[in-house]
Amino acid sequence: MNRCTSIFALMLFASGVFAQDSSMKVEENGEVISGNSWLTHTQLGEGIWVINDNQQDNVYLVEGDRLALVIDTGIGFQNLKTYVQSITAKPLVVVNTHGHPDHAGGNHVFDEVHIHKNELDVLGYYTSEPVMKDTYNRFAGTLMPDHLLDKNKNTAALILIDEGFQFDLGNRTLKVIHLPAHSPGSIALYDTKSHHLFTGDAANQHVWLQIKYALSVEDFLISIRKLLGSQEPVNLLLPGHGEPLKPDHLNVLAAGAEKIIAGKCEVTPYDSPLGKEISCHHKDVVIVYKKENIKATSKK
Ligand SMILES: [Zn+2]
Repeated sequence: MNRCTSIFALMLFASGVFAQDSSMKVEENGEVISGNSWLTHTQLGEGIWVINDNQQDNVYLVEGDRLALVIDTGIGFQNLKTYVQSITAKPLVVVNTHGHPDHAGGNHVFDEVHIHKNELDVLGYYTSEPVMKDTYNRFAGTLMPDHLLDKNKNTAALILIDEGFQFDLGNRTLKVIHLPAHSPGSIALYDTKSHHLFTGDAANQHVWLQIKYALSVEDFLISIRKLLGSQEPVNLLLPGHGEPLKPDHLNVLAAGAEKIIAGKCEVTPYDSPLGKEISCHHKDVVIVYKKENIKATSKK
């Protein structure tokens, strides 16, 4: 089974997935000093790596001639900056696809992080100490590491970006595409060199639209159609959870959303630790949503 769109969803499928390797010792600053690494990585192509955040989420590293872009910062358990510097010697630029704790939880080890200008409330809420602590405790037992309890560590300066912003890494450019739905400031990043699209949680297999700050099913469809209508060739989707997806996956997501909007999707109960929700299953896609949040925000 592919991983879900959110750290929260993982609990539904494998409650033990957070179980920490008891041999691993992590210092105050997030360095692993013995035992297996929380982070592991695989090279996906020329200058592209996926960093596995201990099965919680995917962090990506994309290297140009001058700079390397870190796409998301994971849950922040192990020091991502040090880990990434073991892969590339290039100066780092960092971006969050959105502000959820499994994508921005490691921001504190970097000096600067780029994030969409509409995502500040989401980031502030989900990376606040009480919510991070609750997230860890509810889904990960007692795993919340001490260094994340220190508010003073969350000091990355935020650089606000919007649609069309480009990361010029040197002979490689990644373009920001704003895709509001899973959160208001969710983005994808399009690599003009590889033609891969890094989608965060905006377009994967397990879509969560029921959570705080999420927009409607119609808003989700608008964002997916925006990708489908792009003139840029896409040969692979690289989501924030799970395995790479073929571009046709976008058509499946759109069809699932269209079924919900047309009232033609059989509603399936969806119980999560966050409450009782409803979902629509369409082919290999699950869209979780609230029945009162189908119409686009602008139509309400
Ligand atoms: Zn998310």
